Amino acid sequence: MMRTESAVQVVWFKRDLRVRDHVPLRNAAAAGQVVALYVYEPALIESPDFDGAHLRHINAALTELQSALNARSGRLVTRVGEITAVLEQLRNECAIAALWSHEETTQQVAYARDRDVRRWCRSHNIPWHEPSQTGVVRRLKSRDGWAKAWTHTMASPPVAAPTTIMPAQVSGLGILDADALQALGVKVPSDSHELFVAGGERFARRTLASFLTDRGVDYRRAMSSPVTAFDACSRISEHLALGTLSIRQALHASAGRRAELQAQRADGMAVDPRWLQSLSSFESRLHWHCHFMQKLEDEPAIENRCVCRPYESLRDANANEQRLEAWKSGHTGVPMVDACMRALRAHGWINFRMRAMLVSYAAYDLWLDWRTFSKWLARQFVDYEPGIHYSQLQMQSGTTGINTLRIYNPYTQGETLDPEGSFTRAWVPELAALPAEWIHRPHEMPPLVQGMYGVTIGRDYPAPLVDHAQAVRDAKARFTAARAHPGFRAAARAVYERHGSRAQSARARGL
Ligand SMILES: Cc1cc2nc3c(=O)[nH]c(=O)nc-3n(C[C@H](O)[C@H](O)[C@H](O)COP(=O)(O)OP(=O)(O)OC[C@H]3O[C@@H](n4cnc5c(N)ncnc54)[C@H](O)[C@@H]3O)c2cc1C
Repeated sequence: MMRTESAVQVVWFKRDLRVRDHVPLRNAAAAGQVVALYVYEPALIESPDFDGAHLRHINAALTELQSALNARSGRLVTRVGEITAVLEQLRNECAIAALWSHEETTQQVAYARDRDVRRWCRSHNIPWHEPSQTGVVRRLKSRDGWAKAWTHTMASPPVAAPTTIMPAQVSGLGILDADALQALGVKVPSDSHELFVAGGERFARRTLASFLTDRGVDYRRAMSSPVTAFDACSRISEHLALGTLSIRQALHASAGRRAELQAQRADGMAVDPRWLQSLSSFESRLHWHCHFMQKLEDEPAIENRCVCRPYESLRDANANEQRLEAWKSGHTGVPMVDACMRALRAHGWINFRMRAMLVSYAAYDLWLDWRTFSKWLARQFVDYEPGIHYSQLQMQSGTTGINTLRIYNPYTQGETLDPEGSFTRAWVPELAALPAEWIHRPHEMPPLVQGMYGVTIGRDYPAPLVDHAQAVRDAKARFTAARAHPGFRAAARAVYERHGSRAQSARARGL
């Protein structure tokens, strides 16, 4: 390998696979020759929360990133290996002036590798520039004032892509699919999803645009039902997770659209009033995105430990395998739970309310500890974002100590959100013959009615694993007992201090 003599700027792409609103790329391109680096890291790919589908989506994004870099005379350089080893290879091939990347709030295995990179940079006297791409604050001292700081950070407009990128003469391996990585000794997990949505920066911007100008009009009302949510939600989560879109780009595009609608209204044009409400709900959720990520940033241990420590042993650490498998495969005997789980497994996405209901059912009805399925569930989400994932899992399992228990009744969720039963029938074809009257509670059909529709409970479709009302009573009693523990109040108060949104005071939360 020929050694490049002039010192190069290494831009390490991670969860920021775009050229627009990419401060590290822009600054590096202004500073000199660039190695635009993506590393397939075995330690991450072989982690239990990584899925073959994640690799497919990463590669779709890398394909577009490569074209976008090429269009600016730049070049994508991919390598396989642990990042510090790859950086060491590069250092043997060229002098490195600086390393650039975005700060990442992430799972512990990636935090550990970031620590290695920091050590490596220090030992070679290479500066590592690491700006944030979200509203998450590193080394946050207090949650007081966090929301204000978020608004301030988000106010600066997204930066433009560099117009030209001078590539360093460094070779790469190209975009590597699962087979190519396996051939290089990386154990790529299987692919959990049947359906594939195109990826990449252009697709991300098209998805956002179609939401802001067309699909999003009824978002506020339609986001909760899985019948409507697939179209009515923005569907940008996967793009935010891979960084094919930045949170700032989404927020500014929404604010721009809001201003346009307000101007139209001021000009006397008819504007559907649902638009402004929907955009405001959407923007609040972009705020939540960072609010939840901040929790993992402040306390990485919540990937594996209960936010409120007295709940550590509330549930059995060893899962009841029969219950867990029934839940994972969508055979619990509760049609709405099974339909949502099967839809999630096919698409790699389901809307927020249904994610919450799935976890609520596992945590309260089946009394499963969130840690027995957290990594598996991460694999099912193509938008897996560790900061949101672990915080939400704990919130929906009741282990934060500061949120009221949100226990969903999956039968009434079905009746309210899928009243005709169309979604349920589509995903639970065993029940396709049932009319709306029975679709959400097939176990209540008398034998004669079962015979009439040709659906025998226990043969064609399982009876529910547990009685919902009884399971909820039991769960609440267990929580009440845990809260009576002398250390509980102090622990919950500490959680509030560290993680609580200041929208509600500690006193209002009863802490
Ligand atoms: C158990 C559980 C696990 C979850 N895991 C993830 C995850 O790994 N990655 C992820 O992006 N979201 C996660 N969520 C939050 C939420 O379900 C998704 O953000 C949302 O469904 C993504 O679809 P969308 O982009 O169309 O969302 P929209 O409703 O259009 O919202 C726009 C964006 O706002 C943010 N957002 C929306 N709702 C929430 C929320 N409740 N908390 C935090 N941010 C939110 C997301 O970035 C989302 O992309 C999880 C929720 C639960 C209950």
